Amino acid sequence: MQCFLCPVKCGADRSVRAGACGVKGISVAKAYLHPFEEPFLSPNKRSGTIFFAGCSLRCVFCQNYEVSRAEKGEVMCEKRLSDLFRSLEEQGAENIDLVTADHVIPYVVEALKIYRPRVPVILNSGGYVTEEALALIDPFIDIYLPDFKFFDPLLAQKFTGRKDYPEVAATAIKFMAKKPSVYQNGQLMRGLAVRHLVLPSHTEDSKRVLDTLKGIIPADASLSLMRQYTPMGDIEGFPELNRRVTDREYERVVNYAISLGFLNIYTQEKSSADPKFIPAWD
Ligand code: SF4
Repeated sequence: MQCFLCPVKCGADRSVRAGACGVKGISVAKAYLHPFEEPFLSPNKRSGTIFFAGCSLRCVFCQNYEVSRAEKGEVMCEKRLSDLFRSLEEQGAENIDLVTADHVIPYVVEALKIYRPRVPVILNSGGYVTEEALALIDPFIDIYLPDFKFFDPLLAQKFTGRKDYPEVAATAIKFMAKKPSVYQNGQLMRGLAVRHLVLPSHTEDSKRVLDTLKGIIPADASLSLMRQYTPMGDIEGFPELNRRVTDREYERVVNYAISLGFLNIYTQEKSSADPKFIPAWD
């Protein structure tokens, strides 16, 4: 059957070949207790993180390049994925964190039907996901953790090859914002947290992203402004991306978010821009 799951709508018959997302079914690059998610998601640094291989976006600066291009990963069935949920939970995971699952949502839903974790399930999304796909997985998701990467369609086209990214992401986040936030002892148990990666030389676009978010998410939704950008991936030809974000650039974006009235802003230390925080794909 042809796949039209994500906004690319490439129509690949995934029983035969991989689509533009790079995978046929489920392929997992890593599953472990990840210590570096935001403290409001994992106060004890035990996020039960599953990194899915493949991606419908083609970010030139991808911080997980080998995984998003599906060069790494173990192909598995839904039952094996559900066993991973259970195993991470038994190891003490504070959540099940589904990283870049947007292009494999129907398979993940089947796995969640086999085993429904007792800890919060997080859809850690690139933001490039349709409302139809979200409606499929929504009954199983406690926390939405989408990126909102760009405001300008031309910038999105330049860095990801997907000009419709801003429109798709804004629509997806509007859908996700319907889940009210519930905290328990400082841990987000249910709701929405939006991430934005600040890029070098693009603070004006970051501000427009924040303007857009201001109109579509509640003021108390968590907003994570990430400064972990490290030059890597396929950035030859993009000299503006070949450095880390400066203090001034990052402060400009954070101060703008404060001026807009966001109440739960999570910021990162400068030291977070270090490849040592990127998992080894072993
Ligand atoms: S999820 Fe993959 S196969 Fe399906 S439409 Fe998107 S790129 Fe194509």
